Amino acid sequence: MRPVRGTPAHDTGKLAEIVCSNSLKSELKSTPAGLLKADLERLGSLLIATAQKNRVPAGRALAVDRDNFANEVTIAIKNLDNVTVIRKEVASIPEGYDKVVVATGPLTSDGMATALQKLLGLSSLYFYDAIAPIVEAGSIDRSIAFIQDRYGEPGEGDYLNLPMSKEEYERFLDDLLSAKALPFRDFERDYYFDGCLPIEEIASRGRESLSFGPLKPVGLSYPATGKRPHAVIQLRKENVSGEAYNMVGFQTKLAYGEQERVFRAIPGLQNAKFLRLGSLHRNTYIDSPSLLNIDLSLKSTPNIRMAGQMTGVEGYVESIATGLLAGFFTVCELEGAQVTPLPPTTTLGALLAYISGTAENSGSSGRFCPANMNFSLFPPLAEKVKRRKERRAAIIDRADMDMGKWLNNHVEMPS
Ligand SMILES: Cc1cc2nc3c(=O)[nH]c(=O)nc-3n(C[C@H](O)[C@H](O)[C@H](O)COP(=O)(O)OP(=O)(O)OC[C@H]3O[C@@H](n4cnc5c(N)ncnc54)[C@H](O)[C@@H]3O)c2cc1C
Repeated sequence: MRPVRGTPAHDTGKLAEIVCSNSLKSELKSTPAGLLKADLERLGSLLIATAQKNRVPAGRALAVDRDNFANEVTIAIKNLDNVTVIRKEVASIPEGYDKVVVATGPLTSDGMATALQKLLGLSSLYFYDAIAPIVEAGSIDRSIAFIQDRYGEPGEGDYLNLPMSKEEYERFLDDLLSAKALPFRDFERDYYFDGCLPIEEIASRGRESLSFGPLKPVGLSYPATGKRPHAVIQLRKENVSGEAYNMVGFQTKLAYGEQERVFRAIPGLQNAKFLRLGSLHRNTYIDSPSLLNIDLSLKSTPNIRMAGQMTGVEGYVESIATGLLAGFFTVCELEGAQVTPLPPTTTLGALLAYISGTAENSGSSGRFCPANMNFSLFPPLAEKVKRRKERRAAIIDRADMDMGKWLNNHVEMPS
């Protein structure tokens, strides 16, 4: 629709305009992000090829000259024989077509958002992304943390709890309130509501607002004293294997460095390794696990596919990946070609499994949260590998090999 109708973040009418960082992240095939790019390259991704052609030096990351990249993509798309580019806002799902792909992104216009709410149900569309930090399980101090569900027996349950005395709570509060937070962008401000405020915003509303809110200790008792702590930080398993824990209620706008400093001062997290830090930003996406089939088609109306960040992936390359897959599945269907499902052990299969709700960790944090390509999306290895480095290398090897097998066994790629 650009430039006829703009968005709060885009400046031009170019296709594939990159709105923020110009980095498409690591190219190292030993990382999930790097292997994802390699897999997209193997599938003939136009965007990855164009990014590689327009790279700027960025160590082991693939960063692009944003103008040249967008110019070249715009020209390439316009030159495709079977593509017509129409510059206008689409405010309803097009009717009368065999296949439709909706890919209006994190800043979907209000008209399309309303149309999607009508089609999918009011509560199926989210307008912001509230991400709490995720901590590697092995880095949590188990001499402090205790297992217990609220009103459950100590030593039993799914939650790990970090107790705080009054003094520890006060210290944490001072740290939190003095930490540097990122400013809200104008177009983000309207999207927060009381159920999902940044932790520092709740803290600023009164010194006990956290101990009566997300850090409330009710129904919990510290096994070492048998008493209820002044406040408790709850950590919830992020994946079935229990290798990662989500800090419940800790969505935050704090700068990344500040998050590490403030959260490592919490008793029990002094050596915490953060697999992901918290954030809160404007993002339009759908409740994919309840709405999407694994081929990105809507369960209710399978001739419509969703693609890009709206499916609940996060990031440029992940959006490119679901865009490519939506196109691929659509063309296969039109050509009557059978698609062998992508194994969840591969980068692309893991992303699809996560967003379609078929992965074990899809809904583990309550509300569906978008994910970028990371190790926790892959299913565990068949055999236990103790050392983290070796385990990760084995996951990557398996992903690489399984993708190779899938490509070899698969029907011919449609052009
Ligand atoms: C402010 C901001 C900063 C970001 N920074 C980063 C970053 O640094 N790194 C990173 O990896 N990811 C970042 N992201 C995420 C990134 O935008 C997405 O990952 C990626 O661009 C999404 O791709 P997409 O194709 O789904 O959507 P987009 O790239 O946004 O493309 C969707 C297109 O649809 C158009 N459109 C919207 N509504 C309509 C309509 N009704 N009719 C017709 N056209 C419509 C939009 O104008 C847009 O051109 C950021 C997102 C935002 C919003």
